[in-house]
Amino acid sequence: MSRVVGDVENHDESSQSAESTTVESWRQWENFARAQELGQIGWWRMDTTRNILTWSAENYRIFGQPIGAPQTYETFLAAVHPDDRAYVHEKWIAALRGEPYDLEHRVLVDGQEKWVREKACLEFDAAGALLGGFGVTQDITDRKHAEIALQWTVRRNELLTRIAARLLQSSDVQGAVEELCADVMQFLDCQAFFNYLVDEESGRLHLNACAGIPEDRAREIEWLDYGVAICGAVARDRERIVAENVCASADPRTGLIASCGIKAYCCHPLMAQGRLMGTLSFGAKTRLAFSDDEIEVMQAVSQLVSMAMARLRMEQALLEADRRKDEFLATLAHELRNPLAPIRTGLLVLKRTGAQGPNAVRVQEMMERQVDHIVRLVDDLLEVSRIRSGKIELKRERLDLRDLMDQAIEASQQFLDANGVSLSVVRPDAPLMIDGDPVRLVQVIANLLSNAAKYTPSGGHAEIAARRVGSQAELTVADNGVGIPTDMLPHVFDLFAQVDRTLGRAQGGLGIGLALVRKLLRLHGGQVEARSDGPGKGSVFLVRLPLASAFAQGGPQREGGRSARRVLIIEDDDDVVHGLSMLLRAQGANVQTAYDGKRGVEAVQSFHPQVVFIDLGLEGMDGYEAARRIRALPEGRDAIIVALTRWGGETAREHVKKAGFDLHIAKPASMGDIERVLDFRR
Ligand code: ADP
Repeated sequence: MSRVVGDVENHDESSQSAESTTVESWRQWENFARAQELGQIGWWRMDTTRNILTWSAENYRIFGQPIGAPQTYETFLAAVHPDDRAYVHEKWIAALRGEPYDLEHRVLVDGQEKWVREKACLEFDAAGALLGGFGVTQDITDRKHAEIALQWTVRRNELLTRIAARLLQSSDVQGAVEELCADVMQFLDCQAFFNYLVDEESGRLHLNACAGIPEDRAREIEWLDYGVAICGAVARDRERIVAENVCASADPRTGLIASCGIKAYCCHPLMAQGRLMGTLSFGAKTRLAFSDDEIEVMQAVSQLVSMAMARLRMEQALLEADRRKDEFLATLAHELRNPLAPIRTGLLVLKRTGAQGPNAVRVQEMMERQVDHIVRLVDDLLEVSRIRSGKIELKRERLDLRDLMDQAIEASQQFLDANGVSLSVVRPDAPLMIDGDPVRLVQVIANLLSNAAKYTPSGGHAEIAARRVGSQAELTVADNGVGIPTDMLPHVFDLFAQVDRTLGRAQGGLGIGLALVRKLLRLHGGQVEARSDGPGKGSVFLVRLPLASAFAQGGPQREGGRSARRVLIIEDDDDVVHGLSMLLRAQGANVQTAYDGKRGVEAVQSFHPQVVFIDLGLEGMDGYEAARRIRALPEGRDAIIVALTRWGGETAREHVKKAGFDLHIAKPASMGDIERVLDFRR
């Protein structure tokens, strides 16, 4: 090993004889010291024979020690970061054996971590005996931090790419969450995660996946209400919550996570196109807070999961619609072909025997029936497309529901008889006056009666009844036929939905009738519901229509606060808008509508409504977001905001209340609901 010479601090005192030499040396010394300081490079000499460590001024600065403080090998090691001490010692021992001493390690300066690079060579006396070593120390903290940050960024990008690829390939996003969150936890050094998903049915949050808590605890928190605990609050407000030093937190919402030993926590809402799908949160048990970079990773993961879930939902909806269309086309082809065979046979018979032959009348009647059937099918089809494109217009008049019943019975009697189904009629004594389109309403009732005939075996029985319930007329069509499985009850009103395609084939059907019934009733501000105790137990269809008397009561001339209220409806379903505005106008309200959240918020600014109905399931900006924005406006601060949902019940009511709505109404709204809203005062 070479000997290091030229140390200005060790220069020979005798060389100061000439003044110019002294000044020159002094300058050199000064330059050298400045170079060390600028380069953050200090030098050191270790005298191993006497265990004396000499440091340059810069070396003292790097180690954060007072200049001149005596140093030994041990005091040096004590300054090295405890985790690197063994490594540094090992390298020095190896260096003394002749191996290169060139290493990077951490030192602690006032409890702060610093990075240094050290490089040294050995020194020997003239006789070749080892004196120790001479080395340099360079402060590389900035470079090292940049390097670590870069490595972290690379690993983060790898993680996000991995997650994105996994989610893109997955057809089971909910199932994939567990695996990818394990990956995220490892990267972020987290010990827990929770993934809640919105359960549309109950209006609550359901725990889809979690880690880091005991199983029985997970079971306890399987269901969560909006607003409860951190996840519930995030779901309600659609805003991230970061909780630090959870154990010392006075926030009652942190109780749940604190009881799981979590100290730092971050929960993001899972949102896509303004719609809430759930929440995703991560927790650490070993530290009190997350860095901004870590929170950003959690946010990116939440966004990826949200997008994947939204994509999958869309895919599923498309597949379902496609499947139903395929089924429908097959049924349609079948249904149109069925009557064609007898018509063709009839034509043949007529051709052979002549139009005046003995069988001609019977054959012609048969052909007429089949043609009628085809016409009915085609009419239904046209009707659906007319309603869907909003082209249907009701021709309203004041009607007695009893007359509509009579007309529908008359129209269906032949069909009931042909199917061997007897019918009893419970006709109320008092009139049941409603405002509606007689043709459409007879069509509704006749449809229900013909279904009763279709889905009740010969010898069975059906009953039609009507009565007044409060401000509504109620009509039921019941039968003791094949019944409907419980899981199919909510779907029988969907377009093209059929419980069993092998049933009722003799009569034909496309799964359109009940969809039409529901649509037409909604246009009248009414509703329909199916009830059945299951297969073989018969079915009941219950229709509710607002009574005209209630309309008359609620007119604009009415005393009290209901009249002339400005009401805004934010809803994308035409039928609901139509039914609701009809009921509202009947109560004297001045109604405006908006078909999405954005336009709704704008309408509040221009229309200044006193009451705003908002559909929670709007596409784009959803109802919660729209409500929040409206509340934030000066024009919306005092408005009564009413949530329109598909579900009812106490939980749903509670949940929307917590989300800042004043009232909650399950669709379709009844006249009673409207009265409740218009009578409400904040
Ligand atoms: P279609 O009768 O043409 O199939 P609908 O829309 O009228 O279509 O009815 C949808 C489905 O609901 C039917 O296919 C049948 O499965 C079920 N359904 C309707 N009415 C009854 C009833 N009274 N009893 C049992 N099931 C019924």
